[in-house]
Amino acid sequence: MDQIHIKNLEVYAHHGVFPEENALGQRFVISASLFTDTWAAGQTDELSHSIHYGEVSQRMKRYMETHTHKLLERVAQGLAEDLLETYPLLQKVRLELKKPWAPVGLPLETVSVEIERGWHTAYIALGSNLGDKEGYLNLAVQELRETRGCQVEAVSSYLRTEPYGYVEQDEFLNGCLRLRTWLPPLQLLSRLHEIEQKANRVREIHWGPRTLDLDIIFYDKEIIDLPELTVPHRDMQRRDFVLFPLEEIAPWARHPVFGKTVSELAGELREAKKMERVESE
Ligand code: ATP
Ligand code: CA
Ligand code: CA
Repeated sequence: MDQIHIKNLEVYAHHGVFPEENALGQRFVISASLFTDTWAAGQTDELSHSIHYGEVSQRMKRYMETHTHKLLERVAQGLAEDLLETYPLLQKVRLELKKPWAPVGLPLETVSVEIERGWHTAYIALGSNLGDKEGYLNLAVQELRETRGCQVEAVSSYLRTEPYGYVEQDEFLNGCLRLRTWLPPLQLLSRLHEIEQKANRVREIHWGPRTLDLDIIFYDKEIIDLPELTVPHRDMQRRDFVLFPLEEIAPWARHPVFGKTVSELAGELREAKKMERVESE
C-alpha cells in the first residue's frame, strides 16, 4: 500500500517514569508512516482525497503536549489510536517515537519504541436462545457500535435455528456481523466476553442455553491456533446458523485454510443436508 512519511518531527513534552521528566519535560522525535491508498488524490490532485501531513503533524504535536504518560509504549499507542480514529482514509500507521535525552546515565544516541497499528476486518457470529433473544442480539450490535476501535459495517438478518450439540433446549436466534476494528484478536475476544457478561450470560453447560454467544469467525486472513482462540472458528463449516447469515453479508469471503468462499461452504452444507434427508426417507 502507498505510504506518506513524516520524518523526525520534534516535540517538547512531559512523558517519563521519573517525576523530573514529567515536571521538566524533554525532547521527543516522532516518525510516522501513514498507509493509505493515494490513487484518488493522484488522479484528482485534491487534498480531500488524501491525508494532510501538515494536519497530522500538528495533531501528533498536540497529543504529545496535552497528555502525560509514563511509558513511550503508552504514548505511541495513544498516538496511533488517535490517528486511526481521526483519519478515515488511514488504513495503518507505523510510528517510531524516539527519546534522545532518555535519563539512562550511559552514552547512547537515542532510545525508541516502534509500533504498527491498523484497521482489520472481522466477522462475528451472534447467537441467543434464552429470554429476549432478539433484544440480546441487538444489544451486542449496539455495544460493538459503541466500542472504541470498532465499527459495525454490516449486520445480517437474524435466523431461527434448532439447537446444536446439546439439543434439550429452546431454539436459537443467530446472526453475523462485519466489524472494522483496530483491536487485535485477543483484545477483541475479551471485549466480546465483556459484552456476553453484560447480557448476564452464565457459563454452565457447554453448548447449553445462553443469553448471548459471540464468536470470532474470521479475522482478516489470519490463522490463529491458541488455547483461548481458534480463528477461523473451528466448526463454522458444519454450522448452517453461522454460514447462512454470513453468506448474506460476505458470500465472497474466503476461508484461509479450506480455500473456499463462504458461499461455496454454504452450498456444500446445503447439499450434505439434502443427502441426509434423502437417506432418511
Ligand atoms: P463453540 O466455540 O463450539 O461455538 P461455545 O461458543 O458454546 O462453543 P463458549 O463457552 O462460548 O463456547 O467459549 C469457550 C471458549 O472458546 C471461549 O472462552 C474462548 O476462549 C474460546 N474460543 C476459541 N476460539 C474462539 C473463537 N473463534 N471465538 C470465540 N471464542 C473462542
Ligand atoms: Ca459458539
Ligand atoms: Ca462462544
